[in-house]
Amino acid sequence: MTPAAAGLMSFLDEEVAGLEREGRKITLRVLDGAQEPVSVIDGKRVVNLTSNNYLAFTTHPKVKEAAKAAIDRWGVGTSAVRSIIGTMGIHSELEERLARFKGTEAALVFQSGFATNVALCQSLMSSDKDLLISDELNHASIIDGARLAKSARKVYPHKDMKALEAVLASPEARGARRRMIVTDGVFSMDGDIAPLPEIQDLADRYEAFVMVDDAHASGVLGKNGAGTPSHFGLTARTQIQIGTLSKAVAAIGGYVAGSRSLRDYLVSTARPFLFSSSHPPSVTATCLAVLDILESDPSHIKRLWANAEHFKKGLKALGFDTGRSETPITPVMVGDTEKAKRFSARLFEEGVFALAIGFPTVGKGKERLRTIVSSGHTAQDLDAALKAFAKVGRELGLI
Ligand SMILES: *Cc1c(COP(=O)(O)O)cnc(C)c1O
Repeated sequence: MTPAAAGLMSFLDEEVAGLEREGRKITLRVLDGAQEPVSVIDGKRVVNLTSNNYLAFTTHPKVKEAAKAAIDRWGVGTSAVRSIIGTMGIHSELEERLARFKGTEAALVFQSGFATNVALCQSLMSSDKDLLISDELNHASIIDGARLAKSARKVYPHKDMKALEAVLASPEARGARRRMIVTDGVFSMDGDIAPLPEIQDLADRYEAFVMVDDAHASGVLGKNGAGTPSHFGLTARTQIQIGTLSKAVAAIGGYVAGSRSLRDYLVSTARPFLFSSSHPPSVTATCLAVLDILESDPSHIKRLWANAEHFKKGLKALGFDTGRSETPITPVMVGDTEKAKRFSARLFEEGVFALAIGFPTVGKGKERLRTIVSSGHTAQDLDAALKAFAKVGRELGLI
């Protein structure tokens, strides 16, 4: 670039320096090899407590085989959007399987969970007469979806059912054309579960519909990992279920499961669906192979929960505060950004990777390490991790 051309972009150097000063500059860690329960990260072999590879499917032999076979049959990519000529038989097959898995009439796959949430908010909340009602701790993709929606939006304090009812009872909500309540099924920072029965009762009473984002619940909670509506026995009442294919399913993508008319409407209106190309067949085959395993072999989910319980119990016995976690996502509360970072860095030296989460991702005083165990961790992996947590926790005066 010429100096004059580069000069016009020099504001970026200042921006990056600002991020660095505020401790918000992200340096990418690099995996040497696959995402595994014990991974090589930045050249060091560590117990990996930070990925969403809940069921260790990223390296499952049957899943890898299916992805390779799909390349031979369908090629490496589609070179088209779904609505033009980017829909292959394998894409339709996956959507039928996802609908069956979630217990709904139909399903539709998007490029990512992020794109799915944006698509749903934008397509369904299409008028200023609509109202989107959202839990304050919902995922960033729901927040961005709400920004792209034409509707008004109301945010209620985390899981506060009195506040949700007050919103629903307000003249603004009563006068709205459509009311959509959106909640994460499992909240990604605290690992707590949405009170879906109460939300659904309020929704029914005030004639709202519910969209539950089960990114962290799919493959984890409910029958065969079908998610929070299944966990609470609400499958027939929850209107819209979102899932990702990027976490427990170990591929990439997101989907919505619901009525046939919801699918038909989105196929013709959802902008991320209409204007972004479809998944490579190997991705789709990965998902199908994972569904085969989920529906036939409950041992993976069983081991995940046994591991989560063992690890959580161990942390509590050491005297750590694990917040309000009810799932394999287990925070270890620290209460200070610098200390959380130091905790994470020292654990890494001791052979454990657990991510530090500071302000503003979580509130002031709520800074923490966030851990996720997988079904693939051995008892030795988890006990080695607990030993490191004990050593560093004492060092930093946390226990
Ligand atoms: C990870 C996540 C997403 C985004 O899913 P991707 O498939 O990674 O884009 C959406 N919602 C929630 C709650 C998530 O945790």
